[in-house]
Amino acid sequence: MNQQATLLTRPDWRLELQQAFRNPNDLLEYVGLDASQFFEDSRARELFPLLVPRPFARLIKPGDANDPLLRQVLPLKQEFDDTPGYTADPLLEQGDNVAVDKNQGLLHKYQSRILIILKGGCAVNCRYCFRRHFPYQEIRFSQQELSQTIDYLTRNPQINEVILSGGDPLMASDKTLTRIIDALSNVTQLKRLRIHSRLPIVIPTRITETLVGILANTRLKTSLVLHANHANEISAELKHRLASLYKAGIHLFNQSVLLKGVNDNVDSLTELSESLFDCDVLPYYLHQLDKVSGAAHFEVSDDTAQQLWLGMNARLPGFLVPKLVREVGGENSKTAIMPDGRFK
Ligand SMILES: *Cc1c(COP(=O)(O)O)cnc(C)c1O
Ligand code: SF4
Repeated sequence: MNQQATLLTRPDWRLELQQAFRNPNDLLEYVGLDASQFFEDSRARELFPLLVPRPFARLIKPGDANDPLLRQVLPLKQEFDDTPGYTADPLLEQGDNVAVDKNQGLLHKYQSRILIILKGGCAVNCRYCFRRHFPYQEIRFSQQELSQTIDYLTRNPQINEVILSGGDPLMASDKTLTRIIDALSNVTQLKRLRIHSRLPIVIPTRITETLVGILANTRLKTSLVLHANHANEISAELKHRLASLYKAGIHLFNQSVLLKGVNDNVDSLTELSESLFDCDVLPYYLHQLDKVSGAAHFEVSDDTAQQLWLGMNARLPGFLVPKLVREVGGENSKTAIMPDGRFK
C-alpha cells in the first residue's frame, strides 16, 4: 500500500503514538538543548525507556533544561541512585498480599470499587512512575479476563464501581472499550464507570467523537480522571476536546503527583487548578510520590506538601483544592496527609 494512503487512513492518535520521541537525543534536539551535555543522563533510558509524544513535546519551552514538562520525561543520572526506602514495587502490587489476580488483571483493594488493569503500555513514560519497573506491556485483557471479571463482580455484590486503569486504558482500541463497557453495563449492581488516563494530556486527539459516544452511551455514570501535573500540559486542543466530553455529560476530574522541580510551589499548583477548571475539570487528588527506585529526586517532604496545600487553600475555592494523599499498602482507602483539623 502506498505510504500516503496508510497515513491518511490511520487514526490520528495512533499516528502520534508511532511518531513519539523514543530517543533522548532527538527529544533534546527538538527542544533546543545540547544533547552532548545530557550524555550521562541518557543512559537512564536503559532503566525505563524514553517515550514522549510530539503534542506533549510541543508544550516544552525551548532551551529550558528545567522546564516542568521536560523534567517529567527526561532520563536523568539520578535515576541510578540507590535511596533507602525506595523500592521496585512500593505498593506491593507484585506480591500476593493484595486481592490481586494478575492473570485476570484485577486489583481489588477498596471495598466498593475494583480496578481493571486494562492495557499494559502508556503513551508516555513518566520518570516518576511507580510502574517503571513493571511496565505491564504484556498484559492483555481479553474475552476470558472479561468473563472472569464479571464472575468476580457477581461474587462481590458490594462493588458498584469499576475503574479502568493500566498502564493507560485509552491505549485500548475503541472496539475493545465498547466491548468491555457493554459487558459491564449489563452487571446491574454497577453504578459507575471510571477511566484513569494520561493519554488525552499527551495526545489530545485520543478524545475522538467515537470515544465521546462510547462514554456517553452507557447507563453507567461515567467519569474520566485525567493526570496532569502542570498547567502547561493543558493545551488549546485538549481544552477543545474536553469540552465535547463535558457536553456529553462525562464527569471530569484530575489527579496529580507532587513533584520536586515540576509543581512544588503554590503558584504552579494554583495555576493548575485554575486551568483545569477552565476546562471543566475538577482537581481530585494531589498524590505524594510513590517511593519507587529511580524517582527519589522528585520527592517533596510531607511537611512541605502540607505547607503547599495550605497555600492553595488560601488562594482557591475549596472545590479547586485537591485532597493531598498518599497510597499506603493495606489501607482501605488513600491516606489523607492534609494538616490536622483541615478536612481530614
Ligand atoms: C486509587 C485506587 C482506587 C480508587 O480510589 P478512589 O479513592 O476511589 O479514587 C481503586 N482501586 C485501587 C487499587 C486504587 O489504587
Ligand atoms: S501515564 Fe501513568 S502509568 Fe503511564 S508512565 Fe505515566 S504515570 Fe506511569
